[in-house]
Amino acid sequence: MLLLLFICFNCKSMDAQTKNTDQQKVAALLAKMTTEEKVGQMTQVTVNVVSTKQPGTLDAAALKKAIIDHKVGSILNAPDRALTVPEWHRVIKQIQDEAKNTRLKIPVLYGLDAMHGQTYTLGSTLFPHNIAMAATRNVDLVKQISKVTAAELRASGVRWNFAPVVDCGRQPLWSRFPETYGEDVYIGKIMGAAAVKAYEEDGLRNPTAVASCLKHYLGYSASRTGKDRTPIYLPEIEMREYYLPQYREAIKAGASSVMVNSGEINGIPVHGSKYLLTDVLKKELGFEGVVVSDWEDIIRLHTRHFVAATPLDAVAIGVNAGIDISMVPYDYSFYDLLLEAVQKKMVSIERINDAVSRILMMKMKLGLFDNPYPEAAATSNFGKTSSQELALEAVRESMTLLKNTDNILPLKKGISVAVVGPAAQTISGLNGAWSYTWQGKDEQWYPEDSKTILQAITEKNKGGTVITSTVKGFENNENFDADKLKSAASDVDVIVLCLGEEAYAESPGNITDLALPQNQVDLANAAFTLGIPVILVLTEGRPRFITHIETKMNGILMAYWGGKKTAEAIADVLFGDYNPSGRLPYSYPKTMGEIVLYDRKPSEEVREIFNENVMMNGYDPLFAFGWGLSYTTFEYSEIKLSSDKIKANEKLVVTVNVKNTGNKDGKQSIELYTHDIYASITPSIKRLRAFKKIFLKAGESQEVSFSIDKDDLAFVNAQLKTVTEPGAFEIMIADKKVSFNYIQ
Ligand code: BGC
Repeated sequence: MLLLLFICFNCKSMDAQTKNTDQQKVAALLAKMTTEEKVGQMTQVTVNVVSTKQPGTLDAAALKKAIIDHKVGSILNAPDRALTVPEWHRVIKQIQDEAKNTRLKIPVLYGLDAMHGQTYTLGSTLFPHNIAMAATRNVDLVKQISKVTAAELRASGVRWNFAPVVDCGRQPLWSRFPETYGEDVYIGKIMGAAAVKAYEEDGLRNPTAVASCLKHYLGYSASRTGKDRTPIYLPEIEMREYYLPQYREAIKAGASSVMVNSGEINGIPVHGSKYLLTDVLKKELGFEGVVVSDWEDIIRLHTRHFVAATPLDAVAIGVNAGIDISMVPYDYSFYDLLLEAVQKKMVSIERINDAVSRILMMKMKLGLFDNPYPEAAATSNFGKTSSQELALEAVRESMTLLKNTDNILPLKKGISVAVVGPAAQTISGLNGAWSYTWQGKDEQWYPEDSKTILQAITEKNKGGTVITSTVKGFENNENFDADKLKSAASDVDVIVLCLGEEAYAESPGNITDLALPQNQVDLANAAFTLGIPVILVLTEGRPRFITHIETKMNGILMAYWGGKKTAEAIADVLFGDYNPSGRLPYSYPKTMGEIVLYDRKPSEEVREIFNENVMMNGYDPLFAFGWGLSYTTFEYSEIKLSSDKIKANEKLVVTVNVKNTGNKDGKQSIELYTHDIYASITPSIKRLRAFKKIFLKAGESQEVSFSIDKDDLAFVNAQLKTVTEPGAFEIMIADKKVSFNYIQ
């Protein structure tokens, strides 16, 4: 034990020493830099600016213009499609070779969006999107998949990941909803922090690590219309309660960078908000890393938001607000304008020095000054078989069984099945956005062994028959021919109807209605006319309304966008080779007028009754947050508390016994919610404060304990302070409830 303590102490002091040395090196370098060199470090361009038309091939003259003439410090993205590992190595080498020709030989930092696995390397391992990972309730899995993502990114020679997204998914219309960890603050907090740790905790010099980038600070997901980059109105109390905690937690976990929200909050574009970027992020949260703008967002202060009268003003406003790197990304206007702004004293040299120190420090920590080239030790981590196995494990664990009337599932193997609907023969619709291309729709880049649901079910249903009326590609018109479906499926034992959403990212994913498109509803209605049981499989990034078809479905499986192994996991669950344990990370609404979230206020719970026909429906989603069935059953004991009261610094130990009372082994997430009964502002009806996922064999039971304290009961009060007020609280686990008091 003593030895361990000594080793830990030694590690800590070595970390501190490295940090000091890095800081000294950064200060020495900064002292040698010209203003042009500093401004260049703050300039980021897209690789397209320095590429030929041939993906993966750089244009030497354009590269020189960027790195030598404009001293560009970072480059982002992939040229139109993912590259192979050797192509990446060639690109990175050429860039770093050019950087060696600069006066101070400062290496270039390359960043891109590996959102659910390394998006932009061909053959990389694609995992479930964040929304599906939230359904797993398995924080360790988040860590494991993020480790692989980092390793595959670094194997490609790239050391900066524009992930994780820690925006809170409270607006289901939002086109980037699938990139979030769902509507709950706690899940976003701990999963976001787990991803950051996985990317960074072994030290960024390690050839398996990448710098993380939290995005999109702050409130990006709360757009009023749900359309990407449209105005957000966010009272500060709401911002602090639901949107800021994830950033605080992930910064504590060591996040190296933060990307800024492209939108405006209460009329102030976040790229121009000194309050949010400097006062809150850098000062209050103590963020010491790099703040990078989002795509074109500094110039947009002038061209889109109209808060800067000139492009020069836009640059001054953005940099003075606290932006360290501008993702310009198509030209060198930012470089020229920032130089002008410094000359005209619109931006102080202290602000520039602060920004550049942060950037150089990140490069230093990443080991770029030691070796900026793709590392041999990193390359062997690409495309391991174990990563594919992990992808299967993760997507299996995300599978959320929403309905199972009369235990129609699991299906027996050897039956006759019709696998129909637009998602039956798609690969892109199972992987979603950020899959080998930005939109993820281009199936030619997916690995050849990627499977469709039809293929996976055909392989699984040994000895049986599988037919389809669906052709390749989600959006093919033939896939919406209801008559074709009816004639193909008229004589089978069961219909597996695969509906949902084709891949989309950002603005191309904007919709005007959450309703499932009518042509998909028509397919469901056609299937019902056959009088054959219908199982609905949903592969979608956000909850599209299925209210009018849900009642006639015999089973419903939510598969989200689960990455490479989605089809295999669906087949495993449908045919009983895997017992599902996912829980919904959001409230699945019934209708547009009833989008109420699970952590609702008391006045959302009660509806006024004008006559006896008006239901008092309160929180009445189609499927509640946390919903998810299993092929086995679990029984919970009464909840035991270590005390019926806690004081300021005391811990409350909450214990419950969980038994698998069915005849199948299975996993279950044990979820602890609290409810503050009276408070100075209206308390939420429930808030998730802890969860633990356990595995129980059939008949087995386990005692599960949680330790909570006053901070787990806190909320943001009217004075914008996070407080825990004395009084009575309830703890809820499954169908059990118990009360206790918090005494100050
Ligand atoms: C997105 C960011 C992304 C950036 C670079 C932007 O359009 O909003 O999430 O990191 O592009 O690809």
